[in-house]
Amino acid sequence: MAWRFALRIDPVASDDPRESFDDTLRIIDPLAPALPFGELSAQRGDGIFESLGVVDGHPQEVGPHLRRLAHSAELCELPAPHLAQWRAAVERVAAEAGEGENVMKLLLSRGVEGEGSPTAWITLADAPDNARARTEGVRIVTLDRGYALDVPGRAPWLLLGAKTLSYATNMAAIREAKRRGADDAVFVTSDGFVLEAPTASVVLRVGDRFVTPAPSAGILHGTTQLSLFAHLEQRGFATAYDTVAVDDLAGADAVWLLSSVRLAAPVSAVDGHAIPVDRALTDELNAYLLSPRD
Ligand code: PLP
Repeated sequence: MAWRFALRIDPVASDDPRESFDDTLRIIDPLAPALPFGELSAQRGDGIFESLGVVDGHPQEVGPHLRRLAHSAELCELPAPHLAQWRAAVERVAAEAGEGENVMKLLLSRGVEGEGSPTAWITLADAPDNARARTEGVRIVTLDRGYALDVPGRAPWLLLGAKTLSYATNMAAIREAKRRGADDAVFVTSDGFVLEAPTASVVLRVGDRFVTPAPSAGILHGTTQLSLFAHLEQRGFATAYDTVAVDDLAGADAVWLLSSVRLAAPVSAVDGHAIPVDRALTDELNAYLLSPRD
């Protein structure tokens, strides 16, 4: 990963009335050590994050990403982020992005053990080359997430639906998918419903209708999926949040994994069974997703 820039944020209270946040933002060396050993993000993954795409210097969907950061903070009982402060920080970092695609990560941790104040920082790096995933697509395997569809309501302490820094399980699922000869995974519930991929939302096309699993299933509400649904609705397509049975994947007219940096990756196979890739529509969707979006 080629790191370009990093900014440390001293988080202020969410109702702080100041208008300039300059003295709360500090440029740090992206290659130098910056966090103490007692940092709870490093010790326990106790924090939250957002990854957003920056295209030709434009940070994409900042509002939806900041809203989701605030939602994750609430679920994790972290101090509410001051949205204007974070927006100012995002703009400062985006100013360092060059032509092409970059990835910006926003991180808010519970801070250093025993100190009781959060730590926050933003990094900017070159985005990986996603051309192949966007054109040829990705082969997925379905993996059991180990719980039923109704678990989020019964066990809110699992923090399902929060974008926490505890992604070890998600990374393990991708490794398992690769061991099985695929490129990526899609998590399914123990009672047979589609959830999400380890780093992406799942969208199916059935006829002229686009469907994604409802966020109430304890999955992240994807900013890319939200933006794409608004675009598809403008083009006259029907969109819906629904429960999606595992068998619906192989029977769909098309399936995509959607995320802020890889954008729309068409699914070319589900559990070894080839499914059609709509290359023309996928190219159109990615052209939209690469255009400046707020
Ligand atoms: N679901 C999970 C688990 C993710 O990690 C991500 C993105 O990283 C998404 C869905 C897609 O979210 P977004 O479109 O906001 O990137």
